[in-house]
Amino acid sequence: MTASTYDVAVIGAGAAGLMCAGVAAQRGRSVVLIDHAAQLAEKIRISGGGRCNFTNRSVGPENFISANSHFARSALSSYTPGDFIALVNSHRIAWHEKHRGQLFCDDSSEQIIRMLRDECDRGAVHWRMPCTVLSVAREADGFRLDTAAGPLYAARLVIATGGLAIPQLGATDFGLKIARQFGLKVIDPRPALVPLTFDAQSWAPYAALAGVALEAGVSAGEGRGRQRFVEDVLFTHRGLSGPGILQISSYWNPGEAIELDLAPGAEIGEALVRSKPGNRQQLATVLAALWPRRLGDQWLGPDASLRLADAPDRVLRELGSRIHAWRLVPAGTAGFRKAEVMRGGVDTRELEQRSLESRKVPGLHFIGEVVDVTGWLGGYNFQWAWSSAFACASSF
Ligand SMILES: Cc1cc2nc3c(=O)[nH]c(=O)nc-3n(C[C@H](O)[C@H](O)[C@H](O)COP(=O)(O)OP(=O)(O)OC[C@H]3O[C@@H](n4cnc5c(N)ncnc54)[C@H](O)[C@@H]3O)c2cc1C
Repeated sequence: MTASTYDVAVIGAGAAGLMCAGVAAQRGRSVVLIDHAAQLAEKIRISGGGRCNFTNRSVGPENFISANSHFARSALSSYTPGDFIALVNSHRIAWHEKHRGQLFCDDSSEQIIRMLRDECDRGAVHWRMPCTVLSVAREADGFRLDTAAGPLYAARLVIATGGLAIPQLGATDFGLKIARQFGLKVIDPRPALVPLTFDAQSWAPYAALAGVALEAGVSAGEGRGRQRFVEDVLFTHRGLSGPGILQISSYWNPGEAIELDLAPGAEIGEALVRSKPGNRQQLATVLAALWPRRLGDQWLGPDASLRLADAPDRVLRELGSRIHAWRLVPAGTAGFRKAEVMRGGVDTRELEQRSLESRKVPGLHFIGEVVDVTGWLGGYNFQWAWSSAFACASSF
């Protein structure tokens, strides 16, 4: 079999790989796009509850976690949310803004997949899918890939195989292995945007609250590294979930505490002390006006039936402190099977900021989630996929 030769081989036809292949091909490069999955871009399909939160109105390096916090700046400014919105508009995909600048398709995430596939077709990208890559080797003028469909050569190789989250959808450590094969450092991968779990004994008093959701301030970290989000939190049988917990999980390190303010913006202790005089209502009833009833009953315990007027100020203030600063130490996370993304990945110090090209191995690029740049919840991870892919493809 004679091996085909391309300017660019992209491994991974997810968000970043599709974008990179389409842009490079439309710039006149011959591009082959390879993926082992039978279905195209499964993560885009399931994203945003099936409507794909494809970007965020306001995106900056501060919305990302990385050992090198400024690394993302160059790519993010080379291809902005406005650029992606323009692409979406040019394909007549209707979209809307939800809270906190999050943009979603009106109809279906399938539209984003179709758009990216059409952009690839416009540039006449060659497809090898489903196709397993057996090995990658550096040759004098590029890379040799041995695949299940035979060998191929490419002057440049782009690794866009994503992170380890949701292995049941085809996530693999292929990108991390290639990085290590070529001697690039990898920041330890960890589940991020993931529910937090507690050991059964310490969580037993709260397990009955499963299903209760409320807005909370959630913090983790120390000193300048401390991060806080105010978002919804959900009690589950094993621990805590919901957007606020997913956000803080990306900053949490094993063994550390997180702190929850279960009534952000209110001063529950002082409010109770102020409304005490002559108030014969039970504490549980008073609190139910401010808080989910089940949560109030759980927090008050035997104090639930106390009349507010009879409750010592000290008890009310202590209750307020417990509500506003609930410290707890998670046992762990729900793991990669439940995580939305991977934290860590190819060390950005190994890569050129503008082209995402390896400093050690010219012609080898890493884009998207496999790189140690992890976005917040809210469309940031897709924007990183689009921006890093565009920056890479524009450098060829
Ligand atoms: C449930 C869920 C919901 C999400 N919702 C959102 C959202 O609404 N907004 C947002 O911004 N982010 C969201 N994300 C995160 C987002 O999906 C990812 O950050 C993004 O898809 C990363 O793009 P990528 O191209 O780097 O990787 P991926 O999109 O994961 O693509 C990687 C591709 O590589 C292929 N691949 C893997 N291993 C191999 C191999 N060995 N050989 C060949 N091919 C391989 C895979 O099949 C896949 O097609 C969500 C994630 C999950 C899990």
